[in-house]
Amino acid sequence: MNLILFGPPGVGKGTQAVILEKKYGLLRLSTGDILRAEAEEGTELGLEAKGYMDRGEFGPDELVFGIISKRLDRPDAEKGVIFDGFPRNLDQAMFLDALLAEKGMKIDKVIELAGSDETLLSRIVGRFSCKKCGTFYSHKHNDTKVEGICDVCGGKEFVKRADDYEATVRKRLEIYRSLTKPMVPFYKGKGVLVTVDGMGSVEETTTKIERFLSNEKLDYRAESL
Ligand code: AMP
Repeated sequence: MNLILFGPPGVGKGTQAVILEKKYGLLRLSTGDILRAEAEEGTELGLEAKGYMDRGEFGPDELVFGIISKRLDRPDAEKGVIFDGFPRNLDQAMFLDALLAEKGMKIDKVIELAGSDETLLSRIVGRFSCKKCGTFYSHKHNDTKVEGICDVCGGKEFVKRADDYEATVRKRLEIYRSLTKPMVPFYKGKGVLVTVDGMGSVEETTTKIERFLSNEKLDYRAESL
């Protein structure tokens, strides 16, 4: 099974992608995570991407096409892939279709996570993650149970993404609307897309996604869960 998970910043796509990766044994391919890791290592690719990322803009398509093609050549992609943060515009969606077709693969299901701008903004501006295990928290919405200690691994050091500040998030939301949202009719036309409300708890959202993945809701063509 090959899945795409997309949605505006702060809607919880990274969190859901990690859960689904474990539950379904898929390879999670997050272009954002890959670019951040490259930037931290100071590679040429990472340094090029860092400017775009910090400004809240997309990197050039060619930059992410290279990453995707390389990762899909790995044998572990055969178990199925969950695309997290790619594709992000129509050209990327068409590139992915063509690349998968070459490899005899296809996209089986696409999940659009949706949420209101003001809640997303408040979630993301308060967002921080555990330096050790990467678990995300958000001050007002999903804080650690004990202040300063990660619920999952007990880590005591936290980090904040360089692009998680109000002005940058507003720009990312605008770019999402103009460039990423047009993928909705593209995947709806293929009958593989469902829109899931990402504003509930993590568990509620996972349950809705699982219903869709298990085909419990068969007529999902133009549906919202
Ligand atoms: P994310 O972690 O998915 O929010 O991605 C963080 C940043 O990485 C984005 O704001 C972009 O600058 C860059 N990025 C990630 N994926 C893509 C993509 N598919 N196309 C262009 N830029 C991307």
